[in-house]
Amino acid sequence: MALRDIVKDPNPTLRKICRPVEIFDDKLGRLLDDMKETMIKADGVGLAGPQVGILRRVAVVMVDDFYIEFVNPVIVKTKGSQIGPEACLSVPNKSGNVKRPFRVTVDYQDRHGKEMSVTAEGFIARAFCHEIDHLDGKLYYDFIEEK
Ligand code: ZN
Repeated sequence: MALRDIVKDPNPTLRKICRPVEIFDDKLGRLLDDMKETMIKADGVGLAGPQVGILRRVAVVMVDDFYIEFVNPVIVKTKGSQIGPEACLSVPNKSGNVKRPFRVTVDYQDRHGKEMSVTAEGFIARAFCHEIDHLDGKLYYDFIEEK
């Protein structure tokens, strides 16, 4: 595994739409391993492809002992709403309150291409939304409710 450099706002890479992953090979596995290591080292709860300069639909999320790797994630169901603080490893030293669904269901593939689905609530649901937004070139402060 290796640490990757984290792309910082306003680098235009963060505003690009990512392409789907089509090849599930060792290179994808290494990318996900590196993203996990980079996220942990940076003390983050999530990291998406564009944040390490890769314009593919991949993201990792880690909240306490919960860890997940998303390949080609799609939010297929949401319920309720929550407002809470968010920050981003690509936008240092800033945070703001963002409105998100309270519960989300995400369909995705694992690193081997297997179709999976996960449902989460609260902070983990927030992290899912934040990371999946990155894959569409969106940053959390686009949605800030209050500073
Ligand atoms: Zn972020």
